[in-house]
Amino acid sequence: MKEIMRAAVLHGPGNLMYEEVEKPQCGDKEVLIRVKAVGLCGSDIRSIRFGHHKLMYPQIIGHEIAGEVVEVGSRFTGFFKVGDRLYIGSLIPCHECEPCRRGWQGLCENLVVPGTDIPGGYAEYMLLTEKLLKHGTNVIMPEDAGYEEMVLVEPLASVYACQRKVDVKLGDTVVVIGMGPVGCLHVELAKLRGASCIIAVEQSAQRLAMAEAFGADYLINSAERDPVAEVRKITKQRGADIVISACPAVEAQQQAVSMAGKMGVVVFFGGVPKGKMTQLDTNTIHYNLLTIYGHYGYNDSDLQQAYYLVVSGKLNAKRYITHTMPLKDIEKAIEMTQSGEAIKIVLVP
Ligand SMILES: [Zn+2]
Ligand SMILES: [Zn+2]
Repeated sequence: MKEIMRAAVLHGPGNLMYEEVEKPQCGDKEVLIRVKAVGLCGSDIRSIRFGHHKLMYPQIIGHEIAGEVVEVGSRFTGFFKVGDRLYIGSLIPCHECEPCRRGWQGLCENLVVPGTDIPGGYAEYMLLTEKLLKHGTNVIMPEDAGYEEMVLVEPLASVYACQRKVDVKLGDTVVVIGMGPVGCLHVELAKLRGASCIIAVEQSAQRLAMAEAFGADYLINSAERDPVAEVRKITKQRGADIVISACPAVEAQQQAVSMAGKMGVVVFFGGVPKGKMTQLDTNTIHYNLLTIYGHYGYNDSDLQQAYYLVVSGKLNAKRYITHTMPLKDIEKAIEMTQSGEAIKIVLVP
C-alpha cells in the first residue's frame, strides 16, 4: 500500500496547494529524511508567484533544508545512518563541466537544485537521491545545533561568496541597500570581516529598525531622506569603499553608483525585475575608477564556510528567524515576509 505525506506543491505560477502526496520510497542507494525545518526564501516566493523557467510542475519546492535520517537504502555506502541530523546543501553541481572544474560550481552547466529540479523540502519527507548524496554538500549537524538555524546557511553562502569576491576588509566603509534577510546578513558579515563603518539603507522603517541589531552603524530611511546625500555626509563627502545593492530596484542600483567613493566597488547583488533596465552614469564609473560587480550564488567552499559560521555561532543565525510556523500556513508566511513584518520564517512540515 502506498504511504502518503503532506506537502506544499506548486502546480504552476500562483497555484500552490498544501495537499497529500505519495511519500517517496527510499531506493537501495538512497536516504530518506524527515524534514524538520525549511526556510521560506525570497526566491521561493518569486517561484510561487511567477514560476521559474527551470520548474517542471507539479513540484515540491523549498531549498533551505534540515532534517533527520529515517531510512537508509540497503546498498547505501555513505556515512549517514538512521537518526543522524542533517543539513542538506542546495547546490548539486556535476563537478565535471568546465565551470565546475574552474571552481565555479554555482555556474555549473548541469546544476541540480532541490525544490527546482528535484522535489525539495516543503514536505514531511524528502528523498536524498544518489546524485544529491554524491555531489551535494550534506553534513551531519553537531548535537547542539538547532534545525532552524540551518535555513540561514544557503542565503549566507551567497552573501559570503560576494564579500569574499569584493574582499570586504578591515577599515572599509560599506553601504548595504535593502534590509531583507540578505541585506541584514551582509551587514553582520561585513562587521565580522572588520568593516569599520556600515551604513544600512532601507525604505521600510520597520525593517530599518531590525538592521540596527545586526551591527549597522548608521541607518538611512530612503523613504524620508536622499540616501546618496546622507552617505556623502556620513563619509565626509568621500563616498563608500563598497556599496552592495541587495534590493531588486533600478533606483537602488543607480544610487549605489553615486554612493561609491573614488576606486570604490559597487555590487549588484540580485537582479531587477524582468523588462527593467538600469541606466548608469558611466562617466562617474569612468572618472572615479569604480568597479562594478554582478553577483548571485556560491560555490561548494562558500557553502562550507557559511555552514561553519552558522554552527559555530560566529554568525547569530537565531536572530534572523523572527517566526516559526507550520508548513500549512505557508500563504500567511509569504504575506508576512512580503509586508516586512518578518525577516526570516522557518516552516515546519
Ligand atoms: Zn534561498
Ligand atoms: Zn558542473
